[in-house]
Amino acid sequence: MIEALGVPHTEVALVVRNGRPAGFDARIQPDDVIEAYPARHLPPGMEHGALLLRPPLPASDLRFIADAHLGALAQLLRLVGFDTRFDNNFADDEIERLAGEEARIVLTRDRELLKCRTLLRGYYVRALQADGQYREVTERLDLAPCVRAFRLCLMYNALRPASLDEIDGRVPEGVRERHTRFVTCDICHRVFWEGSH
Ligand SMILES: [Zn+2]
Repeated sequence: MIEALGVPHTEVALVVRNGRPAGFDARIQPDDVIEAYPARHLPPGMEHGALLLRPPLPASDLRFIADAHLGALAQLLRLVGFDTRFDNNFADDEIERLAGEEARIVLTRDRELLKCRTLLRGYYVRALQADGQYREVTERLDLAPCVRAFRLCLMYNALRPASLDEIDGRVPEGVRERHTRFVTCDICHRVFWEGSH
């Protein structure tokens, strides 16, 4: 019934029926009063995790999958360290499958995608521009405490420390002389080092 009114189930953290928490499967009777709350606006006394429809994810373990419209947002999320899958060619059922198998939060501008039954966690991105989307997602999902910038290559792979032998010939001479710590990506083979600003 809630989805029929246009709100995907992933946007709802708590359903209250006649004053008591209820599941999505509750049978609605005539004269029932149904309240649906998003995660960040829970009613007083009902903020308890056990009452919610989905247990909150541990902040250290937030992973995402972004739909085809959100490539720039995916890059920004990787930049600050969040494992984010993105591929222009992901079909909706593939996004649904990967979200389930890899416990990822789906980020999308497609409400219908979020109405898929098997999809557990997702967020409908309202903003249209990448910087606004980034601000919105970090605020709504409370990501700021979990930010660990420059941990992932923007092309996705985790970075690992590189030995000095390994980076020979792959960075400019001056950089090689001034720095001792380098990291590299095993997919795109680029080398990174700490910038001067
Ligand atoms: Zn890479």
